[in-house]
Amino acid sequence: MKSSLRLSVFFLFVFLLLNGCKKEATEITDINFPITKTYQNIPEPLWDYFERFENEALERDLIIDLNNLNLTAEIVEIVAEGVAGTCSYGSHTPKHIQIDQTFWSQSSDLFKEFVVFHELGHCVLFRGHREDANQDGTCVSLMRSGIEDCQDNYRLATRSNYLDELFDEMN
Ligand SMILES: [Zn+2]
Repeated sequence: MKSSLRLSVFFLFVFLLLNGCKKEATEITDINFPITKTYQNIPEPLWDYFERFENEALERDLIIDLNNLNLTAEIVEIVAEGVAGTCSYGSHTPKHIQIDQTFWSQSSDLFKEFVVFHELGHCVLFRGHREDANQDGTCVSLMRSGIEDCQDNYRLATRSNYLDELFDEMN
């Protein structure tokens, strides 16, 4: 199954090359790589976001292998009002992330990324909350608690700055 898929991708790639469209050929090249990494003890809907987290870390010279960190996760109904995710850890238990099922089913890709990255910020980067606001009132950090005054501003245009701050608080 897998090899036949790979084969058809290959033929598509050759076809596009013959057609000489550079942009499409570049896009097709990308899917010659594994589309998604797998993560043990992590629900499949989270895999894409976990892989993005590793990739964004790597772009900032930080090597993180989430499969190697004794990390578990689940998507469940979190009873506490307004809580989209949690990270918990103790000395004898694996680090554990919970993502709220209702939040997950209703949220955009970018907002899901925000919450998964926030919880990984706690569980993997050992960051606490940071409530600082910019002059325009927007939050400085993805690690804001959500109960203080700053306004979230995580958009495609601001994403890269927020991720700089996430992986290096000094940014
Ligand atoms: Zn938090």
